[in-house]
Amino acid sequence: MLQTIDWHARAKSVRLPNRPFIDGQYVDSVSNETFPCVYPGDGRLLTQVASCNEADVDKAVRSARNAFNAGVWSRMAPVDRRRIMLRFAELILANREELALLETLNVGKPIANAFNGDVVSAANCIAWYAEAIDKVYGEVAATAHEMTTLVVREPLGVVAAVVPWNYPMSMAAWKLGPALATGNSVVLKPAEQSPFTALKFGELAVEAGLPPGVLNVVPGLGHIAGKALGLHMDVDCVGFTGSTEVGKYFMQYSGQSNIKRIGLELGGKSPQVVLADCDDLDAAAAGVAAGIFANTGQVCNAGSRLIVDEKVRDALFEKIAAQAKSFTPGDPLDATTRMGSLVTEEQMDRVLGYIDAGRAEGATTLIGGSRVRVETGGFYIEPTIFDRVRNDMTIAREEIFGPVLAAITVNGFDEAMEVANDTIYGLAGAVWTGSVKNAHRAAKAIKAGVVWVNCFDRGSMAAPFGGFKQSGFGRDKSLHAMDKYTDLKAMWFAH
Ligand code: NAD
Repeated sequence: MLQTIDWHARAKSVRLPNRPFIDGQYVDSVSNETFPCVYPGDGRLLTQVASCNEADVDKAVRSARNAFNAGVWSRMAPVDRRRIMLRFAELILANREELALLETLNVGKPIANAFNGDVVSAANCIAWYAEAIDKVYGEVAATAHEMTTLVVREPLGVVAAVVPWNYPMSMAAWKLGPALATGNSVVLKPAEQSPFTALKFGELAVEAGLPPGVLNVVPGLGHIAGKALGLHMDVDCVGFTGSTEVGKYFMQYSGQSNIKRIGLELGGKSPQVVLADCDDLDAAAAGVAAGIFANTGQVCNAGSRLIVDEKVRDALFEKIAAQAKSFTPGDPLDATTRMGSLVTEEQMDRVLGYIDAGRAEGATTLIGGSRVRVETGGFYIEPTIFDRVRNDMTIAREEIFGPVLAAITVNGFDEAMEVANDTIYGLAGAVWTGSVKNAHRAAKAIKAGVVWVNCFDRGSMAAPFGGFKQSGFGRDKSLHAMDKYTDLKAMWFAH
């Protein structure tokens, strides 16, 4: 089906949602301000989108609070909430073509990835939490005989979900699933680069039966709409995914306002460690290449630091360079493209700036290093690998968020682990080894919320995802994510 659709033709006629979705409908913004949305595949202006300000955010929060207090969702029977969320997931799949197209137009990712990956994983996430609604129980505490003590989880009230642009639908779903399943109302603020699918989600949720006000969507700029949510006195929790820099702001906003709960899924500089005893360099090379070039490297857990043992480095590099060829940037609306554009011109310039810094600090470019497809007007960079990188260089320390791999050569297991952990981040890490002993030693040694052994970027809704250190705290996915959106209450009944 993917191959049979003329995506360019569809792109000309698709409706681009560009107004806030509040209280069950699209409304005009109070601010009357707008920001431009550009298709990064060719640099053309798509539309202007409403830029919500404090008044718009306040309107959305009031709507969410009213819905919460009325109990239309928060007190609805779990089995009915489950049915509505399952219907929401079905509608996401039923609108797969349109959602995939909106995502590709917003962020320039290959249509095949949006169609087969992003839409499906968002629907799967919503369905997974729907199924959990009536399968999670409270506790009875072991207290005195003349007492019955129940320990229950209650929804917090109004949850703000502030999300990034790299996987707009999945990141929104990772917040919406557990926050809605636990009975909260949500105000979703998509990144300014990617508002379309979030707005469409608001519409689909209401079509599925979610009462108006339970999910409001406010497109807007971070320092205006995002900040307004962070500082709002009637927002009980912010589920945030984005950069470490902005994550720190949210902690400050919380302290300056109402001590709202904050969950932070932040940046990373994840190590891909290939040990001398790796017995499948082909698999390692494929994992390393996909780990940094998929989604144009705009992935929070991208394996952006290759830490490779001297003994296998030459053989490995040859194989990675061969793998990189399949990530040649192409037209995002072509169903066969594996690597699209970067999200904006600004992001492309930022990545090119890091490539310049790598060269200036003495690293060697093994492949790539340039902007490509300039004639299209889009924002493309070819897969780039730097060799002879030291872990104190800028390209080894800072999150580039582009298709740029920094390769650091080490000698032996201990040095590999030391370099892997010498970072402010701790989102993820991987080790490639043929030794069971080293697999276990490395899995314990790597300080990160996710460690992959002989694989990379594997995931399931059943396993938690999130970081150590400055990669944040709190977890998305799995039942653990529901903790973020609930408070524990102990209820004591004397007999
Ligand atoms: P960002 O931090 O710039 O923006 C994220 C969100 O915060 C956006 O909605 C933005 O509008 C908002 N925002 C920006 N400035 C703000 C401010 N001053 N106050 C309040 N809100 C503000 O991040 P990005 O560029 O959209 O996304 C890339 C970052 O996201 C990377 O660092 C990446 O590692 C991270 N990320 C992390 C995960 C994870 O699960 N750990 C997943 C995806 C992306």
